[in-house]
Parts: sequence; structure tokens; C-alpha cells
Amino acid sequence: MTLPLFPSPPPIERPHTCHARGCREPVPPEMLMCLAHWRMVPRLIQRAVWANYRHGQCEDKNPSWAWHQAADAAIGFVARSEGFMLRPAEMEAMEAFGCR
Ligand SMILES: [Zn+2]
Repeated sequence: MTLPLFPSPPPIERPHTCHARGCREPVPPEMLMCLAHWRMVPRLIQRAVWANYRHGQCEDKNPSWAWHQAADAAIGFVARSEGFMLRPAEMEAMEAFGCR
């Protein structure tokens, strides 16, 4: 019998963090981003994220397609503002919201 080199960490709840690229700011599960990043998101996309948010979607890991699209657009918008490369899903979502 061999002992694992890296024993798996105890099952502690990982804190929910800001979804902006590279940001590790802990935020409540119902918030997509920390306040600093959320403020960079256009109002139109902010509204779409909230409109499609379902309570508990983070716990059951099953957000709707509409929420995903709004979230991708928000994450993509912040990423572009900060000079990061965009993922294809983010580019598509931003186009769907009319941000190029
Ligand atoms: Zn952040």
C-alpha cells in the first residue's frame, strides 16, 4: 500500500470568489463579481445577470443558459477592459448583448 504524496485536503467549503479573470476576492454566492469588477459591467448586462439569477443555482451548479450567457458577457467585458484575452463563449455572449 502506498500513501498518497499529496493527501487530499479536508472537504472544507471553498469560498465563492469573484468570476473576473484572475480575481480571488471572496464574494457571496449570489454575487457574480466583487464590487470593483461588477462596477465595470454595463448596466444592460448587469440587469440580464440579475434577471436570470435563480436562488440556489450556485449550490446545485445548474444555472440557466440565459444566466450563463449574461455572466459570460459580464466576465468578457471586464476581461477586455483589463487587457485579457477573451474566450470564444465570452465573445459570442458580448456580441449577443451588442458589445464589441
Ligand atoms: Zn473581482
